[in-house]
Amino acid sequence: MKAAILYETKQPLRVEEVELDGPGHGEVLVRVAAAGVCHSDYHFMNGDLPITLPCVIGHEGAGVVEEVGSNVSAVAPGDHVVMLFRAACGRCEFCQRGRPALCAMAGLLRNSGRMLDGTSRLHRAGTDLHHFLGVSCFAERTVLPEQGIVKIKPEVPLEVAALMGCAVMTGIGAVMNTAEVQPGASVLVIGAGGVGLNVVIGAALVGANQIIVADLLDSKLEMAHSFGATHLINAGEEEVVSAVRALTGGEGVDYAFEVIGNPKTMATAYQSVRRGGTAVAVGIPPLGSEMTINAGELVYQEKTLKGSYYGTARPHADMPRLLDLYLAGRLPLDKLVSRTYPLDKVNEAYAALLAGEVARSILLPGGS
Ligand SMILES: [Zn+2]
Ligand SMILES: [Zn+2]
Repeated sequence: MKAAILYETKQPLRVEEVELDGPGHGEVLVRVAAAGVCHSDYHFMNGDLPITLPCVIGHEGAGVVEEVGSNVSAVAPGDHVVMLFRAACGRCEFCQRGRPALCAMAGLLRNSGRMLDGTSRLHRAGTDLHHFLGVSCFAERTVLPEQGIVKIKPEVPLEVAALMGCAVMTGIGAVMNTAEVQPGASVLVIGAGGVGLNVVIGAALVGANQIIVADLLDSKLEMAHSFGATHLINAGEEEVVSAVRALTGGEGVDYAFEVIGNPKTMATAYQSVRRGGTAVAVGIPPLGSEMTINAGELVYQEKTLKGSYYGTARPHADMPRLLDLYLAGRLPLDKLVSRTYPLDKVNEAYAALLAGEVARSILLPGGS
């Protein structure tokens, strides 16, 4: 089967024939129907975040179960599934407190680049290839731990299901789960990429009144407008904090979401919230970066600064509900899919993403 391999950072991915072992104990083999071209992979491709190479990347995927290993009870062949880049054990303190994105299992998968038993299912010419976050969905097929999938209804298009695996859950989850945005609230979203657009969708869903979006590219601001943004700020032309104050009677917003991963814009989000407001950091910052905020405002203005990872999701509860909302016509997730590409055009898909031409591109590795 074919897979997109990262051999060296800052170099294009190479789509090559690889060997995939069958699923081991507690594992599932999935035919990858759709894989999202997410900016987070690019952080690893570019060397901003550490990764063990060579590696089959891709972390936003959905597909159809083809084979299950011993002791798998959650799914059976033919089931449609969303892949999770934060697989969770379900039993630890963090899982039991409703914070499975913080489960150590995902850290184990990420750091080892292997399956939970410490071995790899991916090989090429006698050498092991590394798995990526327990997903590796830039491939025709992949093997995942059963803790890393959520079964979904077969009527959900698998392109949309793939987006649920990262961008949709991260964005809408930040609104609903992390910030718990209230109806009528004012919201600022800094960064209108794939996840930022989902913050906009989430804010519209919960009934936010003002949805202000800041980005450097007018093309992305126009996309944000089509998903429900009420006010647009080109951050190259206007200073964001003063523009936000001007739009909110001088007070600032109730909630601000930073969806880029830049410590400077995280501080901008914090400065943009009103007294008692909440700033939420969603974007993944480069390794080791630090941010500076006004400590007095934190106290005197009772501001809250929160991190949101994977939308503070409880995937088995949240994803089926959100997909039901999509099936009911309440979430415009089809519109997020700007383009589709075959797997061997993955580098072109990344070029389009970096140029700001697309909301989200989807690779179709394993056919439909
Ligand atoms: Zn756990
Ligand atoms: Zn992602």
